[in-house]
Amino acid sequence: MQENFSLKPFNTFGVEASARYFSEVTSIEELIETLKFSNTQTLPLLFIGGGSNILLTKDFDGSAILLNLKGISEEIIDENHVLVTAKAGENWHQLVMYCLEKNYGGLENLSLIPGNVGTSPMQNIGAYGTEIKDVFESCKVLNLEKLKQCHTEALEVFNLEKCRFGYRDSIFKHEGKGKYVILEVTFRLTRKDHTIDVEYGAIKSELENLGIKKPTIQDVSKAVINIRQSKLPDPKVIGNAGSFFKNPTIPLSQFEALKLKFENIQGYPNGDFVKVPAGWLIEQAGWKGRQIGNVASHKLQALVIINATGNATGKEIFDFSSEIINSVNEKFGIELEREVNII
Ligand SMILES: Cc1cc2nc3c(=O)[nH]c(=O)nc-3n(C[C@H](O)[C@H](O)[C@H](O)COP(=O)(O)OP(=O)(O)OC[C@H]3O[C@@H](n4cnc5c(N)ncnc54)[C@H](O)[C@@H]3O)c2cc1C
Repeated sequence: MQENFSLKPFNTFGVEASARYFSEVTSIEELIETLKFSNTQTLPLLFIGGGSNILLTKDFDGSAILLNLKGISEEIIDENHVLVTAKAGENWHQLVMYCLEKNYGGLENLSLIPGNVGTSPMQNIGAYGTEIKDVFESCKVLNLEKLKQCHTEALEVFNLEKCRFGYRDSIFKHEGKGKYVILEVTFRLTRKDHTIDVEYGAIKSELENLGIKKPTIQDVSKAVINIRQSKLPDPKVIGNAGSFFKNPTIPLSQFEALKLKFENIQGYPNGDFVKVPAGWLIEQAGWKGRQIGNVASHKLQALVIINATGNATGKEIFDFSSEIINSVNEKFGIELEREVNII
């Protein structure tokens, strides 16, 4: 455990903030030891995976714990199914690549999402028409309250129902917030009869560009990687955390009223509600590519806020996001919600 430790290398925004205590754990035993120490000091906890969905707005006066638990195992279920279990500290994209090498299908549309496996259930990561809930079997968690009370059954298993997944949402962002550490996640994948989903976004046209008519799961992954690399800034080059806001869902009546005023407004109907692309709203409000001080909205994707100079503070990025929220609200009467976890 180290004191007054810089978290700059552990957040993809690349902002400077220090943690009062920092430790990296590679096993459940090490994690429990660290938690016992933090409990005796009654320190607030911050778990860190890949740091690609956090914005550190100030120094963290508590115990930051980097979860570096590694290992992947599998269990063949039947001719067409396999359960693949990965520990929290495994890199997400490397897990996707591991599965594709073995020809296990289900994760290909989620290629190249930054971050770690242990965080994937937090916001039910999703891209190109797939969310992890579509292939999720279960996850093993450590119940922090039970651990504090020295309960012998602090380890629990959450199935699909218990996780209450929604759009970029799960129980871990609500009642479960701060109560559990996700230790490993199990996915149910296909071995032969794969479902190929190329309907979303530009996957089809990218496959055409690649000259592929009958795509395999590996081809879909390649197409997704190409699209993502052409559209999204690489956090290793420009600090960012991907989409900063969720796509808002508004009542159909509100959408219809907006359509009279803004005839180009886009929306994806879902019952009595319509999901509106936040990127479009932000762009229409004049923010695409705009920079204030060290912070900007990305020139190719307005939804992505970037640390444009590399010197932005978390507070500057937060304030910039507040200005976008106000501006979109003024123009459209829609309140954007941040997807990134504000620390
Ligand atoms: C360029 C870019 C593109 C992106 N594209 C997408 C996308 O297409 N779809 C998508 O869904 N997301 C996307 N993201 C967001 C991000 O990749 C995901 O949210 C990812 O799951 C975050 O993982 P992480 O390990 O980096 O999380 P972190 O940032 O380390 O943590 C996020 C939150 O989870 C908590 N946490 C971390 N690990 C655990 C654990 N094991 N148990 C309990 N709590 C934990 C942290 O305290 C924090 O509150 C993108 C990000 C970037 C930078």
